[in-house]
Amino acid sequence: MSPASRPCSPCASRGRTVPATRVMLSGMGKCDDCFRGQVEPLPRIPTPAAPKPAVPAERAERYESAPIPQEKTMPAKKEIDWTAVQNDRSDGMSVKDICKKYGVSNPTVYTKTKAPAGKARARISKGPATTFKARTAAAKANGAGPEVDLPAIIKALIARRDKIDRTIAALQEIA
Ligand SMILES: [Zn+2]
Repeated sequence: MSPASRPCSPCASRGRTVPATRVMLSGMGKCDDCFRGQVEPLPRIPTPAAPKPAVPAERAERYESAPIPQEKTMPAKKEIDWTAVQNDRSDGMSVKDICKKYGVSNPTVYTKTKAPAGKARARISKGPATTFKARTAAAKANGAGPEVDLPAIIKALIARRDKIDRTIAALQEIA
C-alpha cells in the first residue's frame, strides 16, 4: 500500500481524515505533522455529531429539586394584587391613599389601574371642550376672550425662562 492511499492513523483517531504521507514499519500511516509528533499532544477534536454526555440521574434530580432563589432574582418586586388596587380605585379611594395602603408609587398606580368609571364619565359630561386648548378655542369662537389672560401667562413664562437662562449661565461658569 502506498502512503497516499491510506489515512493518517493518529489523525483518524481524532476524527480527522488526513492522507498519510509516510508508512511506519508497523504499517501505520502517518501524515507529516503526526510523524514529527506535532499533532499527538493536541486534544481530540470534538466532532459536531458527538452526543453530549448525559447528566447523571442523581445530579439531574438535584437540579430539578433545587429551589429557585426568587428573592435574589427580583429583590424589590412586591406581590401586589392589582385587581384589589383597581377595586379600591374604582370604589373612589384616592391615588394618594392607594399608594399608602399598598406601598406603591403614584405613577405605578396610574399605569396599572384605570380611573374610576364615574369620574371619567363626570368629566366627559361637562361637554366636548374639556382640554384647556379646546375651551380656549371654544371661548374665542363664541366671541368672548380667552378664559385666562394668555398674554400675562406668556409674559410670566418668558420671565421664568430668562431666570432659568441666567441660572444656567451662572452654573456653566463654575462647572
Ligand atoms: Zn496525522
